[in-house]
Amino acid sequence: MRINSDLDAALAEARADYVARNPRSAARYRDATAAMPGGNTRTVLHYDPFPLAMARGAGCRLWDLDGAEYIDLLGEFTAGLYGHSHPVIRAAIDRALDGGIGFGASNALEGRFAALVCERFGLELVRFTNSGTEANLMALSLACAVSGRRGVMVFGGGYHGGVFTFAGGGSPINAPFDFVVAPYNDIAGTQALLDRHGGSLAAVILEPMQGSGGCLPADPDFLRAVADGARAVGALLVLDEVMTSRLAPGGLGAARGVTPDLMTLGKYIGGGMSFGAFGGRADLMDRFDPRRPDALPHAGTFNNNVLTMAAGLAGLTEVFTPDAAAALNTRGEALRTRLNALCRAADAPLTFTGIGSMLAVHTQRGPIATPSDAGRDHAGMKELLFFDLLAAGFWMARRGMMALSLPVGDAECDRLAAALGEFLTVRAPLFARLPAG
Ligand code: PLP
Repeated sequence: MRINSDLDAALAEARADYVARNPRSAARYRDATAAMPGGNTRTVLHYDPFPLAMARGAGCRLWDLDGAEYIDLLGEFTAGLYGHSHPVIRAAIDRALDGGIGFGASNALEGRFAALVCERFGLELVRFTNSGTEANLMALSLACAVSGRRGVMVFGGGYHGGVFTFAGGGSPINAPFDFVVAPYNDIAGTQALLDRHGGSLAAVILEPMQGSGGCLPADPDFLRAVADGARAVGALLVLDEVMTSRLAPGGLGAARGVTPDLMTLGKYIGGGMSFGAFGGRADLMDRFDPRRPDALPHAGTFNNNVLTMAAGLAGLTEVFTPDAAAALNTRGEALRTRLNALCRAADAPLTFTGIGSMLAVHTQRGPIATPSDAGRDHAGMKELLFFDLLAAGFWMARRGMMALSLPVGDAECDRLAAALGEFLTVRAPLFARLPAG
């Protein structure tokens, strides 16, 4: 890193270095644009001038197409909790492969896995899907079917999948529910909307900590107020714990004393294979019981695929035990505290938010409690931090998110603290020129 007191010049230099270091990623990107719009099939992974492409991973390490090594701090946006090729997960998948996949029939694993997921997350009944998006689609569709209502309260800045995007004014391709967008971490603002729209709401869905929105924890009072408010208007409370279920042994809602009517799950619970689940109150989930004459249909070719069932079962029983969940989060808490202490000591406009093993860096001084606070992040400084950490050998989300995987240890945390320290020193001349946070 060279000292440069002009942010635009520093960014141009960092991008040029990136381009020079990554010819194979650049070529892959160019080739991929021939068959995919923007060379991309997963929007979050795109950034200018072109996204880095990875060739392989092991433990908490990744190697890009040009051979550079990185400490993987992204952990596949929380789905990669076990790290790359964890031996227990790997063995479970190998065993499953030995027995053949895609039976077109029920298998021996799905009932055991379902029982485990129910016990762990306090659900009476559960059903599996292939993604968190699909889990939310099913949970909200169920809420509409049982209530006869079409309204769904969501929260600005929230993310529940590609067709449930509520940051920055929402998305034109959101699923066609009648959404009411309430302000996250604002009890009075939310209550006002509940008062106005309560009679039409089938469900209120929220993340107990907004993950994609920048690791913004729900204030515990807010969470309780939303739960009480939903019940008061006869709407189902759906907790989207697709990311946050890793933050406490039974999920973050349980840690906060909030029991939802329905919970949605995803990411790491399938051991790194495609996964989603929705579950909760038996009287609601029973509507899918195919023995009923009026059963609601719920299909999905891969819902019970043996790779996910095997990997998920092995992961939750043998690796990510409640004790392991607590230990990972203690590590994450310590790391976030340490990184924030470095930023404060340098009087830098950087703040790390989050809970436990999920962190997000914001390029401002904070406090950062709401999506509109997070919206004040300095975009250029965030991009520079991303490219500087990449050059120092750290892989994280372009938007600043990190999710610790189990193989991330003290040595990796020490290296990150040192890299951040260098960024704070080398880029200090830029900080004075940023608007006050
Ligand atoms: N809900 C939350 C809170 C998420 O963070 C995500 C994905 O990031 C989803 C749902 C969607 O999950 P998937 O990407 O598996 O469809």
